[in-house]
Amino acid sequence: MKKQIVVIGLGRFGSSVCKELYGMGHDIMAIDSNPETVSTMSDYASHTATADATDEGSLKSLGVRNFEYAIVAIGDDLQASVLCTLMLKELGVPKVWVKARDQQHQKILERIGADRVIQPEYEMGVRTAHHIDSEKVVDYINLSENYSIIELAASKKVIGKTLGELNIRKDYGCMILAIKHGEDVNIAPLLEDSIEEGDILIAMGHKEDLKRFEDKGL
Ligand code: ADP
Repeated sequence: MKKQIVVIGLGRFGSSVCKELYGMGHDIMAIDSNPETVSTMSDYASHTATADATDEGSLKSLGVRNFEYAIVAIGDDLQASVLCTLMLKELGVPKVWVKARDQQHQKILERIGADRVIQPEYEMGVRTAHHIDSEKVVDYINLSENYSIIELAASKKVIGKTLGELNIRKDYGCMILAIKHGEDVNIAPLLEDSIEEGDILIAMGHKEDLKRFEDKGL
């Protein structure tokens, strides 16, 4: 379904979010205080505007309150990012996602009502570490301090076996949410479904259990 999204701050992060969402067919308004930056985005957004996102009048006149989502990607200007987030929430934007530069910034944003805070460098660093730690890990999503979802490449140990035979839930306490086979994704694998060469298992569980599964079960 087409979503109405306003992206504020068109640096590396904001512009890539904007381009990707516009490419997916969503309705995007791209805002930055720098007119040159705004002009580079005219082909990648439904509407563009040059405005200071800390100015309530500008946000109102651009009609941001009518958007379902706002992405605040104002880089290092903590004050501007906080002020803009606060105003978007006060204007009633239902989902405000904000890029934070560090933990302190994240805490402030959470306190003032940001619906989701993203620390791209930190999050990417964690993912990279997991990729290096285990070459079996294809992708990694942190759910909380203790739980995560990982994509694991099927090893020889599991190829040809069914989920029932592997008994991953009982032995490791992890759930196999899906099995990727090329472009196909089996999103509700059954106990009788078997794992083939080249498959990727999407597993959810406690980080310690997932690590055990990765080390011993695969
Ligand atoms: P990144 O690390 O994602 O590249 P940058 O710090 O380079 O982020 O970019 C942040 C963007 O936010 C810049 O394009 C800047 O012009 C824009 N910006 C900064 N302050 C404001 C503001 N008050 N209103 C609108 N845009 C802003």
